[in-house]
Amino acid sequence: MPPPVTNADLAELLALEARDATGILQRALKRAARAAFLWPEEASELHRKGRRLTELHGVGPRIATMLQAWIENPVARAGDRDPLRADFLTLAEARLILATDPGWLQRLCGDLHMHTTWSDGSGSVADMAEMGAQRSYRYVAITDHSVGLKIADGIDEAELLEQAAEIAQVNASILRDGQAITVLRSIELNLNPQGEGDMSSEALARLDLVLGSFHSALRKKEDQTERYLAALRNPDLHILGHPRGRVYNFRIGLSADWPRVFAEAAALDKAVEIDCYPDRQDLNVELLGLVCEAGARVSLGTDAHDPSQLGSIELGLAAALKAGISADRIINFMPLADLLGWIAKLRDASRFVRGAG
Ligand SMILES: [Zn+2]
Ligand SMILES: [Zn+2]
Repeated sequence: MPPPVTNADLAELLALEARDATGILQRALKRAARAAFLWPEEASELHRKGRRLTELHGVGPRIATMLQAWIENPVARAGDRDPLRADFLTLAEARLILATDPGWLQRLCGDLHMHTTWSDGSGSVADMAEMGAQRSYRYVAITDHSVGLKIADGIDEAELLEQAAEIAQVNASILRDGQAITVLRSIELNLNPQGEGDMSSEALARLDLVLGSFHSALRKKEDQTERYLAALRNPDLHILGHPRGRVYNFRIGLSADWPRVFAEAAALDKAVEIDCYPDRQDLNVELLGLVCEAGARVSLGTDAHDPSQLGSIELGLAAALKAGISADRIINFMPLADLLGWIAKLRDASRFVRGAG
């Protein structure tokens, strides 16, 4: 008996089917392929139990019939994944991985990457804090895009100060309600290909922590090691966001001498991110294996653009566990005081470098 068809297999079969389809059907197939990554259980299990596949998000009667045929004939499963769609975990798979070590979900103290209405997110600071509190987090970091990313309505320095006042208000009301969560002030600093940010060091020094990411020149074929080393050496940056820049079925992302990049992160004691957004999952399990060898710190962030998206943290957590990352390297496992202590140490070290330079 061949092993049952997984949601990852079904996603690939749907994506392949979409390639040859047109119009409404093509859009429905593409939507279902992406939705498969967040189906809470294996479709084959659902079918085995006699439940309807239309229970699954993004699945109408026509697609349900296709899924059923694939599930009942596992030999038809797709072969090797197209590299554009390879090494993405599904939620059903992630939950199986996390079940092997339940302590991991319990140790998770917070989410360090999310957007609000201050840039291109749909929730307010209070909405994101509320969803974090519902997940029993001790902290969430608000990381709206910085000014240079016009397409995402990036935030400038004056707006960053206004946002600080709003975050202070939200934290005060959390305290009044006796809740345990803290909203951290952060940003997703837009890095140019030279690894430089687009905000003053003074403005960034007022934040609790700084995440920085590349959003341009992401289709370069040549080795990009130098831009990564420059970004990590940028004294304002603490976490390198979605390092590779890949997007499911759209962009493969950049290439670099990854062992060298991760060794530099480890030497500087900075973190590389697992962006847990289902379409990103960046870093992925393969590259996290190299992070594990280098011993660099890892940050988990959902890159949520809506309060409903905080649940995809499980994808990143499972990827880290599967890759063998040790728990003491995951910064989201640190209590708040330790997390802020780590940032303070990085800032001391960068002042030393700035003073020497
Ligand atoms: Zn980004
Ligand atoms: Zn983001």
